[in-house]
Amino acid sequence: MIFDIEMIESFYKKLDSRILEIRKRLNHPLTLSEKILFSHIYPENKTKPYSRGVDYVDFMPDRVAMQDATAQMAILQFMMAGKETTFVPASVHCDHLTLAQSGAVADLKSAGITNKEVYEFLSSVCNKYGIGFWKPGAGIIHQIVLENYAFPGGMMIGTDSHTPNAGGLGMIAIGVGGADAVDVLAGMGWELKFPKIIGIKLTGKLSGWSSAKDIILKISGLLTVKGGTGNIIEYFGEGAESLSCTGKATICNMGAETGATCSIFGFDKAMTEYLIATGRKDVADLALKNIDHLTADKDVYADPERYYDKYLEINLSELEPYINGPFTPDLATPISRMKEEAVKNNWPVDVEVGLIGSCTNSSYEDISRAASVVKNALSQKLVARTEFTITPGSEQIRSIAERDGFLDLFRKIGGEVFANACGPCIGQWARKDADNKKVNTIIHSFNRNFSKRADGNPNTHTFVASPEIVTAIVLSGKLTFNPITDILINSEGKEVILEEPTGLELPPEGFGNVESGYQKPVHGKNVEKIIIATGSDRLQFLTPFKAWDGHDFLSLPLLIKAKGKCTTDHISMAGFWLKYRGHLENISGNYMIGAVNYFNDQTNSILNQLTGSYDTVPHIARAYRDSGSGSAVVGEENFGEGSSREHAAMEPRFLGVKVVLVKSFARIHETNLKKQGVLPLTFLNKDDYNKIKEDDKIDITGLANFAPESQLTVTLTHSDGTKEKFQSIHSYNESQIEWFKAGSALNIIRKSKNKNV
Ligand code: SF4
Repeated sequence: MIFDIEMIESFYKKLDSRILEIRKRLNHPLTLSEKILFSHIYPENKTKPYSRGVDYVDFMPDRVAMQDATAQMAILQFMMAGKETTFVPASVHCDHLTLAQSGAVADLKSAGITNKEVYEFLSSVCNKYGIGFWKPGAGIIHQIVLENYAFPGGMMIGTDSHTPNAGGLGMIAIGVGGADAVDVLAGMGWELKFPKIIGIKLTGKLSGWSSAKDIILKISGLLTVKGGTGNIIEYFGEGAESLSCTGKATICNMGAETGATCSIFGFDKAMTEYLIATGRKDVADLALKNIDHLTADKDVYADPERYYDKYLEINLSELEPYINGPFTPDLATPISRMKEEAVKNNWPVDVEVGLIGSCTNSSYEDISRAASVVKNALSQKLVARTEFTITPGSEQIRSIAERDGFLDLFRKIGGEVFANACGPCIGQWARKDADNKKVNTIIHSFNRNFSKRADGNPNTHTFVASPEIVTAIVLSGKLTFNPITDILINSEGKEVILEEPTGLELPPEGFGNVESGYQKPVHGKNVEKIIIATGSDRLQFLTPFKAWDGHDFLSLPLLIKAKGKCTTDHISMAGFWLKYRGHLENISGNYMIGAVNYFNDQTNSILNQLTGSYDTVPHIARAYRDSGSGSAVVGEENFGEGSSREHAAMEPRFLGVKVVLVKSFARIHETNLKKQGVLPLTFLNKDDYNKIKEDDKIDITGLANFAPESQLTVTLTHSDGTKEKFQSIHSYNESQIEWFKAGSALNIIRKSKNKNV
């Protein structure tokens, strides 16, 4: 079955005329990213020569994907929009909440019990709103999207940072927060600053132990974790065309580690073959008919430095395998230098666990190449020297890896196959004999290796490499092992050398018919009542926030004056709190608990002006809300940087915070606050931050004339009765001011109920 083929046909039908129109308006050769972005401007007739890195533009992506942890709040919000179905096709994937502990069968059973009410809720809302639902065990969101939904030239958003994986099939695919997903699901334009574009030309061809993973490991080192921010990375060149479709997806997936908006490859033969192998010949045919629109123009490739904002070239023939880490994915070390770097940095070289798979690296090519290393090792009487785990990306991949004997090979060296889910990649790993303090080393083929991410232990040194290099290191037990040059001693005491890995891009016997774990939605009208158990601590229906009462904000007690960095993690912590992602009241118990109080340098200890005592931030925020006054929050620079999670904006709204006044905002958090009806303001003069005292009452006046570019007056009343006044500014446009007045953006959407504009 080809999902949403009507939508894909309709997209390609219009593509030719849209590109013609774009050419007329822009009048210069087009990169691939421009072709896709401009053909998704919303509404269509608003196309004009937007400036990269400057203009904010509304887009209408073709589809939305959500994983189970983030889908809960996204869908709870969407339910308040009052729509009967989603405006674009959407899917939900049960992958993040499955704990990897005792192997696939037992772990899925236990996830089914622990997360029963969340799964039932998601399944029923998917049915009600016509959303595709992928049950636990079906696979990881990005692998499922690649196998089923992605199409060249399309545009999608997903509530997960590695959504760019679909760039391997020529799609602009961007990771977003739940509130953004709601915009698109409800038929509103989705706003994004028009990205800059980095062009990377791949020349030469991979060989031996080098793989697609090594390309992105090298690029992560070149660009660092910030270098891609605000950019799309566009790959091209004969090296790009020599890569498999799934290899391209690996590169796009891990491109998120450079901060890039997304990454993309032009449509080519490898994509055609992958589409056909995964049962989508019709999509391949449509793409082939439009091939000129699915790559950049020849002039761009001929003179890339002129048309890309930044340009790099990498020769794949010279690329050696990389190992990145520890603690950050951009610390890239070519394998030939690992011995020297490990000694220099005192990294523990005895590896305890090697993990392969995840949404990043569990293609047929990855698994078959890792299996070829194991097969050769077994024939040379080598044994594994570390624990070894395999996390398939989907049931489709798992079943053919089983059928073709790869999983058996892994089991022969002690490999344990986990469920087709995120597991160890997102800290959902009950690591055997875990010691939360022990200094140790693990190596995996996932994408992120920040402190504590895999097993919660801050002393675990996590390194990232390709599946074949991870497998070789499992056989040696040493981080410093280089299979290109080093020998191993086998169980008979003989010296042996591992042969280079071999693999196949696609299964020669096809993907076969697999029970995929997909639940087709029953489209249409109120087919199912959504039930959340009374007293549930995981899920809670949302109620609309109240509209603005038309008055200035007067006498708001200062809740907290945050000092220094205040990211979305400081505002709404993850870890333990993840389980409350679908319960606004419970998750609000973490509001600002990581922020440092300017007045005592402590976290989660602030003055309660009602009692004169010190207490936690959420507790006092509730007290101010319940007293009827509400409260104000003050912060410093780039307030709310980090993820786009909407909880960081919903929590203050729920707790009665009316205004957040800072030196500067991270843009996404500022927009999220506006969407939820909290007033984000910026000091006109940053030094006014210093005037705010711990027991101040704060007035915000001028709201009657609230308009784009207007200023609002802040008046501080100190406890000795003296007052100080200064000006604040804001970045609201006219429609955002309507959000404020209505109480939230969702309240506006609800007004246009089912117009599906
Ligand atoms: S496998 Fe890892 S990177 Fe992929 S979606 Fe899951 S948590 Fe994210």
